[in-house]
Amino acid sequence: MARKEVVVDDVVRLMANRDSIRNIGIVAHVDHGKTTLSDSLVARAGLISKELAGEQRVLDYDEQEQARGITIKAANISLGFTYDGQEYLINLIDTPGHVDFGGHVTRAMRAVDGVILVVDSVEAVMPQTETVLRQALKEKVRPVLFINKIDRLINELKLDAKGMQDRFIKIITSVNHLIETYGPPEFKEDWMIKVEKGNVAFGTGFHKWAISYPRMKETGITFGDIYKFCAEGNHTELQKKAPVDEVILEMAIKHLPSPNTSQRYRIPVIWQGDIKSEHGQGMVNCDPNAKVTFMVTAIQVDEHAGEVAIGRIYSGTARKGMDVYMGSQYKTEKIQGVAIYMGPDRVPVEFATAGNIIALVGLKDVYAGETLSEGEMVPFEKIKHHSEPVVTKSIEAKNPRDLVKLIDALRKIAKEDPTVRVEINQETGEHLLSGMGELHLEIIEYKISHERGVAIETSPPIVVYHETIGAEGPEVEGKSPNKHNKFKIQVEPLPETVVKAINEGEIDDKTKGKDLIERLIKAGMERDDAKKVICMYGSNAFIDSTKGVQGLQDIRELLTEAYKDAMKAGPQAKESCIGVVVRLNDATIHVDPAHRGPSQIIPAIKRPIFASMLQAKPALLEPKQKLVVTAPTDYLSNVINQINARRGQVTDIQQDLGASNVTANVPVATMFGFANDIRGATQGRAAWYYEFLGYEKLPGSLQATTIASIRKRKGESEMVPTARDFMD
Ligand code: GDP
Repeated sequence: MARKEVVVDDVVRLMANRDSIRNIGIVAHVDHGKTTLSDSLVARAGLISKELAGEQRVLDYDEQEQARGITIKAANISLGFTYDGQEYLINLIDTPGHVDFGGHVTRAMRAVDGVILVVDSVEAVMPQTETVLRQALKEKVRPVLFINKIDRLINELKLDAKGMQDRFIKIITSVNHLIETYGPPEFKEDWMIKVEKGNVAFGTGFHKWAISYPRMKETGITFGDIYKFCAEGNHTELQKKAPVDEVILEMAIKHLPSPNTSQRYRIPVIWQGDIKSEHGQGMVNCDPNAKVTFMVTAIQVDEHAGEVAIGRIYSGTARKGMDVYMGSQYKTEKIQGVAIYMGPDRVPVEFATAGNIIALVGLKDVYAGETLSEGEMVPFEKIKHHSEPVVTKSIEAKNPRDLVKLIDALRKIAKEDPTVRVEINQETGEHLLSGMGELHLEIIEYKISHERGVAIETSPPIVVYHETIGAEGPEVEGKSPNKHNKFKIQVEPLPETVVKAINEGEIDDKTKGKDLIERLIKAGMERDDAKKVICMYGSNAFIDSTKGVQGLQDIRELLTEAYKDAMKAGPQAKESCIGVVVRLNDATIHVDPAHRGPSQIIPAIKRPIFASMLQAKPALLEPKQKLVVTAPTDYLSNVINQINARRGQVTDIQQDLGASNVTANVPVATMFGFANDIRGATQGRAAWYYEFLGYEKLPGSLQATTIASIRKRKGESEMVPTARDFMD
């Protein structure tokens, strides 16, 4: 306990020296050793003993992360470290190792200025290595490289010293190729990984040593020595001369920028406001005396403290009691408490200054991605990460008395993890939980049953489809049941460039007013249309093309409600719509409010939308995943058979050290049960990984049967309605 107090005090003191801060993340392909390495670094701060660091994995503090051995949420920790006689503060973010949770990685990138890229020397650069490095580079986050698990090269692959070095060169070359391709042009050269520069280290997180070129020169250790020690299983000598925590933290301090340096070039990338403004200057200069600017990168819901907003303070000094403006909600909230992270513990502090990763407590309705500022300012660029819930399960409490507890648990989970969606099925009253994949949902179920103690029952997973149109529909007139109100409505596809901007987070349901108009025009919508958008909803737009219709303003809310209802559950299979423009061409509205209530207006809008859509080449879209399977080459044909049997398309096959990497695009719908089948087909020798690719049109031959089966599941007649069913 006493030790912890001292560390907290150290952190508070160090926080003020902006040149001595490093905000870093550790990123890697799943299982490449990120958590094991993080723990060794954390041990350095004295929070857990050095010997235990390999086993007691502090950063994976969620119970089920321990059980499953994967890291799910980005947790934060601040460490003190002395290098070259100077003290440094390292704010370390742990990022998840499974792509189902990719949204967390993207947000974590916003908080850090540099990353330690961990690559398993046997597996080399894998698809997720590429994804995370690309995300970092896009945000001008600088990488250093740690080539891990080199004990495996020697003990498992039996490579000799030369083979080992060739392997290192191969990995460095692939990483540099990515830096060359995706790095910021002005920094590419400087950021390249070179052994002599010392921005790459080799070692084993598990055996707790690492070596870099500067360390080799200092200690006289050669690659030959490393080879000899590893082959003999003698790690103690290396642990003493080149402890992993020291070598890695030194490399991070030397090669990754302080916030003082990085904010100068990163602010213009992540913030579109006027750099010359007061807030702009505060951020560029990382000025603790300027006004506070803060970006929320994660939310945790705490039993006692409520919503805790974790993120990066770019300027100013955050204090308890201070009012901050919430950029997307146009309101001000009071900070109830300021805290820093020590492993799983959140420790209250009096204040926290610019350039750090901290937590703010007590801000109501705060969400991940929100901009907080002292006084109004332009919000930060939206975090670009496109993924959406593609798999749904219904979830019920086994014991009806637990219903309140279940709802509470679901609410908290949805708040902490923006990639989860919780809805109530209005007809059956059951809760529907949607997530990024089967594993994602399994982990949430585990949390609810084991951590919150609610016994639950779930349905088998179902795929989330979308409805769309492929052409312009005819104008259709809808009449209210009392015939007093009429609406002329037509649908057309939303330009693909606009859909893309929405997918990339440039535009969302919260974007409003002039900002929305400008972003729509930039994304490729006609200026005239952009100005007339009444409402966006998902990847759909509602445009008012009427001229001088009396009373339209008075029923505006009903109009948008009807439009949203239609987009939420489309005409074919009651799945949500994407890529649809609904255009209101003309309207006649009764003067008497008594004749234009919801029961009159809503059907008069929804029905013509559906009638027009059903004549506009309607189609069902299905979610696709990019799948990468690694298995010994002997099993290659079995792997390909598995993929073909699932309507998958193989896009690439790479062979390396007796193993094959097969990349394919596969429909989510065919992937349930894949784990068992691929294990069976490869005698358990395959490893695989998948990430969300996007929605694509379901093959024509499957449209009708799939629509019928979705309708049946939803208790609808299996006959697909026709336009006539929605015309008066
Ligand atoms: P993460 O998914 O990237 O966080 O990876 P983990 O740190 O959980 O490590 C994945 C597996 O690799 C675990 O079983 C570790 O014990 C093992 N591992 C980590 N580092 C090393 C290493 O240096 N050598 C070997 N042989 N195994 C390691």
